[in-house]
Amino acid sequence: MEFIEAKQIISSYSRQNSWFGNNYNMNIYKGCSHGCIYCDSRSDCYRIENFDQVKVKRNAIEIINNQLKTLRKKGVIGTGSMSDPYNFVERELSLTRQALELVDKYGFGISIATKSSLIARDIDVLTNIASHSPVLALMTITTHDDQVSKIVEPNVCLSSQRFETLKFLSSHGIKTGILLMPVLPFITDSVSNIKKIVNIAKAAGVSYIYPAFGVTLRQNQRVHFYQKLYESFGEEVKQNYITTFGNSYVCRSPRENELLQAFKRECQNAKLLYQMEDIIRDYKKDYLNEQMKIF
Ligand code: SF4
Repeated sequence: MEFIEAKQIISSYSRQNSWFGNNYNMNIYKGCSHGCIYCDSRSDCYRIENFDQVKVKRNAIEIINNQLKTLRKKGVIGTGSMSDPYNFVERELSLTRQALELVDKYGFGISIATKSSLIARDIDVLTNIASHSPVLALMTITTHDDQVSKIVEPNVCLSSQRFETLKFLSSHGIKTGILLMPVLPFITDSVSNIKKIVNIAKAAGVSYIYPAFGVTLRQNQRVHFYQKLYESFGEEVKQNYITTFGNSYVCRSPRENELLQAFKRECQNAKLLYQMEDIIRDYKKDYLNEQMKIF
């Protein structure tokens, strides 16, 4: 296990971030062990060497404690943007759990993005936070098919286990959502995949789904992704990407419109929210009402 130095763990957004209404961002770990073949965080621009090896920020909990103690403005802290807060190392170190305990102690809210069922371990702390502040648990699910998820996200639990985890969290009163992204062109961009994800989500008690019908590719990440495409799906799929997208950063599914229409229809039938502003308003609404009552 490698430890690195950090001066601060929590950074603030200059204005309320439209990404799920987060006011602050928190990353305890650098790099990620989950091995998703499309991971954007391994791009050159982030300058993370040996991305697959998790680095732990030394004294993370002490730094978080000091930062939260002095932050004047309460708000929602987002975690999970550059590394999964429930990676393998977390099972042993419980740093994310300790950080959540501090989030609770100092009266902040939390929004977590993960692919790991380990989040269920912390249901007690999440429930405590939800008693005073907004809590949003987001799981990335890109395919309903466990065989495909095993290939594209090889070191983390299967899609079916993620749905089970969402069901567990929802049944304990935690607001849950699915990050349906990336939807990989020529692999997971079928209407039936999208429909199944929405319907299984509904059955699991999920409230929100936020999609992106395509994938973004940058330097280094693209090379890694194409190599994995070739190994797992063959030369033809890799060539389809090269021919269709060239060096584009945003690689939209050629079926984007069809997928979007089907997605909206299914979500509306299932009464699931999928617009960012609606999701933010909904998962924060009880707490805003509380504040208004106080004032
Ligand atoms: S879980 Fe997230 S950060 Fe980790 S490898 Fe997968 S996409 Fe990257």
